[in-house]
Amino acid sequence: MPYRPVVAEQPIAIRNTWTAVRDHARTYQDFTYVYPVISRRSRGLSIGVNLNPDKVCNFDCVYCEVDRKTPGKARTVDLAQVRDELLWLIDHAQSGGLAREPKFADAPPEVSREVRDIAFSGDGEPTMVHDFDACVRCVADILRERGLDRTKIVLITDAAGLDKSSVKRGLELMDGHRGEIWAKLDAGTEPYYRLVNRSAVKFERILSNLRETAMARPIVIQSLFLKVRGETMSAVELEAYCGRLREILAAGGRISEVHAYTIARPVPEPWATRLEPAELHALAEVIRQRTGLTVEEFP
Ligand code: SF4
Repeated sequence: MPYRPVVAEQPIAIRNTWTAVRDHARTYQDFTYVYPVISRRSRGLSIGVNLNPDKVCNFDCVYCEVDRKTPGKARTVDLAQVRDELLWLIDHAQSGGLAREPKFADAPPEVSREVRDIAFSGDGEPTMVHDFDACVRCVADILRERGLDRTKIVLITDAAGLDKSSVKRGLELMDGHRGEIWAKLDAGTEPYYRLVNRSAVKFERILSNLRETAMARPIVIQSLFLKVRGETMSAVELEAYCGRLREILAAGGRISEVHAYTIARPVPEPWATRLEPAELHALAEVIRQRTGLTVEEFP
C-alpha cells in the first residue's frame, strides 16, 4: 500500500539549519542518477534526477557548485537504471528509511517521507539530453505506478534548450503531470549575462525561449543575485532585468513567481560572493514594484 502523506494544515517551515538543507550533494549511495535533498524552494523532500552525470552544461556560471575538475560518470542516460533508482528511493523515503539516515535526522520525519517533487536537475543542464521527453515519460509512469498524484515534476533549467523539439514534447508531457518549469534568468543585459553565466548561447535565445515557454504555460523564474568583486547588481542592470520580465508578460507569457536567491554554499570563484538577507530583500522589493510579480526570497 503506498504511503499517503497526511496533508498538514500549515506547511512545515523548512529550516536552513537542517543538515539535508545545507548539504545538497548530488550523490547518494552508489546511485548514478538519483539523489534526495530537502529543498526550501520545493518546501520539502525533492528527489533529484541528474540527467548530466557527465557534468555537461552550456552555461559556466560563476557561482556553479559543480566540481568539473573531477571527471563525470556516465555519458549517456540509462533510463532503466533511472527507473530502478527512483523506485527504490521513493519506496525508501515513504517507508521512513530516509528519515532514519543521519543526514535527514534533524528534520521532522514527515518531511523526509513526503516526496514533494521529482526534479530534473543535477551536474549540468537537463535539456542537453537527446531524449528529454523519454525521461519525463519515465518519471510520469513511476508517479502513476506509485499513486503519487500530488507529486510535481520539476525541470530546473538554464532555458537554453527549451526550443528543442524533444524538450518541447517533454514539457507538454509535464503539463499533464503537475509539471513546473523553474527557468534561470540572472541578468537584464547581454554583458552582465556574459559576466555571470559565461555562456556561448546568445542572450536573445534565452529570452526568446523564456517568452515562448511562458506563453504556453506559467513558469517560475529563478534568479541568483550575487556580488561580483564586492558589487551588487547595479540599478541600471536591475531595471533592465525587470524590463525583461515585463517583456515576457507583455507578450502574453505567464510567470507564476520569481525565486530570488543567492549563493548558499562555497563556489569556485572567490570574487563571486553572497548577498546579505537585507541586500537580497532590497532587490526583491524593486522587482515586486517594477513588475507586479510575486517574489519569493531565499536568502
Ligand atoms: S546552469 Fe547550473 S549547472 Fe550549468 S553552470 Fe550554471 S549553475 Fe552550473
